Amino acid sequence: MTDRLRIAVQKKGRLADDSFDMLKKCGLRFSVRGDGLLARVKNMPVDLLLVRDDDIPAFVANGASDLGIAGENVLVEEVLLSNGKMDAVIDRRLGFSRCKLCLAADADGAIQIPANLSGTKIATTYPGVLRNYLSEQGIDANCVEMKGAVELAPSIGIADSICDLVSSGATLEANGLSAFETILESEAVLIRSSRTLSPAKQNIYDKLVNRIDGVIRSTDSKYIMLNAPASAIDKISQILPGSDAPTIIPLSGSDDLVAVQAVCTENVFWETLEDLKANGARSILVLPIEKMMG
Ligand code: ATP
Ligand code: ZN
Repeated sequence: MTDRLRIAVQKKGRLADDSFDMLKKCGLRFSVRGDGLLARVKNMPVDLLLVRDDDIPAFVANGASDLGIAGENVLVEEVLLSNGKMDAVIDRRLGFSRCKLCLAADADGAIQIPANLSGTKIATTYPGVLRNYLSEQGIDANCVEMKGAVELAPSIGIADSICDLVSSGATLEANGLSAFETILESEAVLIRSSRTLSPAKQNIYDKLVNRIDGVIRSTDSKYIMLNAPASAIDKISQILPGSDAPTIIPLSGSDDLVAVQAVCTENVFWETLEDLKANGARSILVLPIEKMMG
C-alpha cells in the first residue's frame, strides 16, 4: 500500500466545486478532468477519489479511502441505513454547503404540522433519517422512497408530503410546497473512520487539517485598519467583532490620533463600520484575509 493519503470527494454536483475550492485553498494542486476515478495531487502525497456523494461514507468506512468530504445529511443517512454499523464519523465541520432536511407539504393543504402526518405518505430520498425522525416523534406514517424529483411527488399523487433538502426554498415554492419542520441541519463535513493511519499518512493528515482549519477560520475573518482619537480606543475595541486586543500604533505628526489594526473573526457588516465611524474612527479599511495559522 502506498503512503498517499486518499480523500473521497464528490465528482460532480452541488458539493463538488466547494470541496475542490477548499482543497485548492489548502494549497493542493490537482486537476479534475474526464472520467478518471482518481485525481493525483501534484505537490502533496494525496489522491482524490472522485465518486458519487452517497458512496463516500462507505468508502471511508471500508478503507477504500482514508478521508471523505460529504454532506452531513448523507453521512447521517448512510450510518442510519447501516443500523449504526458503518465505521464513519465526523472529523470536523467544513462550514460550506449548508442546507436543511425539511418536511414540506401543500402550502394550504391539510398537513401543516408534523402531527398531521399520521396515516399519510411522505416521499423522500432520505428514508433512514425520515424513519428515524418518525419513530422518535411517535408518528405512524409511510415512507415512499424515491431516487430524485421528490418535490413532484405530491402533485402527481404519489405522496401527501415530502422530506427533502432545502436551501433557499425556491424549489419548494415553485411546486406550491411549504416547509413546516426541519429534521436535520447539514453542512459539508470531513469524514474519517476509527482506523489508525500509518505514521506517514498521519503526517500528511496533520498538515492537511491544520491548513483546513486555517481556511475555515480565514473565510469569515477580516483585517480592519482605522485611525481614531486615543480617547476612543476602548469604545472602538468593543465594537470590533470577534477580535482580540487590537494593535495600537501612534501616528507621526499627531498627538491625539492613533492607528488601530485588528483581526476580526466574525463578519464585518456596513453597520459595524457606521458604528465605528460614529465613535470617532476615520479612514476605515476592511481587508480580506487569505490564510491564517495559529
Ligand atoms: P451525486 O450524483 O453525487 O449522487 P446528488 O444529486 O445526490 O449527487 P447533489 O444535489 O449534488 O447530490 O448534492 C450534494 C450535497 O450537497 C447534498 O447531499 C447536500 O449535502 C448538499 N446540498 C444539497 N443542496 C444544496 C444546496 N442547495 N446548497 C448547498 N448545498 C446543498
Ligand atoms: Zn447523491
